[in-house]
Amino acid sequence: MLPIKFIPKYKHRTAVSADNLCLAFIGAQLLVHPDGRLPVASDLPAHDTAEISVQIGSVTGQACVLMAWHEKTSYAASLQAIGLRAAWGLIADSHYWIAARAQQLLTFDRQHRFCGCCGTATTRMPKETARECPACLHRAYPRISPAIMVLIKKDRQLLLARSPHFRSGVYSALAGFVEAGESCEEAVFREIYEEVGVKVSKLSWFGSQSHPFPHSLMLAFIADYVSGEIIPQEGEIEDAQWFGPENLPELPGKSSIAYHLIQAGLAKIASK
Ligand SMILES: [Zn+2]
Repeated sequence: MLPIKFIPKYKHRTAVSADNLCLAFIGAQLLVHPDGRLPVASDLPAHDTAEISVQIGSVTGQACVLMAWHEKTSYAASLQAIGLRAAWGLIADSHYWIAARAQQLLTFDRQHRFCGCCGTATTRMPKETARECPACLHRAYPRISPAIMVLIKKDRQLLLARSPHFRSGVYSALAGFVEAGESCEEAVFREIYEEVGVKVSKLSWFGSQSHPFPHSLMLAFIADYVSGEIIPQEGEIEDAQWFGPENLPELPGKSSIAYHLIQAGLAKIASK
């Protein structure tokens, strides 16, 4: 999660000071020191060659600045450029979520250089997280795509599944994107039925987590099994099974909401 004292902001910068927290990207990759520290301004390529330099917030008074350069820009040999997934666990958790915000805003900025209505080049709004078309005044804002995750419990078992995209052996709770016009609850019932063919009830809220790949917001629930045999959806679900505490498969990483959701499910079935 973003640090409690993080205050979002969006303000263009003409300079970066030594005490700024720098979220610096080369292409789509974050610059970090090998020990996980973020760089300071003096470590980075020249500020005036950056394609973007925006303060995206502050934390306990320290400005957090997003800067980015094109992927062929050279940078200090003491730094390495890594993907945001690889940064998870390497850089401090509080810095990771600020970097995740930075990457989502950078993706938005790069993907909205032209107006979606008339094709004119857009400009950044000075104090708002938006790009505006000077011809038709259409404004674009960063997209956040809600996705639901649901852990189904039955007696002392949990339904866990694996997608063909998961690392070998890893199982997780079911998940899917919310469709246009749909409530989160409707998305839960639809996704579960599509992915494994079962019906559930007693949906309860667990929590949410930003999932910046590239701009999702994961909304997690726990539900009770009602009826149906597991039928994995072809192409989407490679395998789905009921697991008890004694035969758990490998779970998603400990920083993920999926891991914490499954731990909460295990605590619930243990208390039955
Ligand atoms: Zn336009």
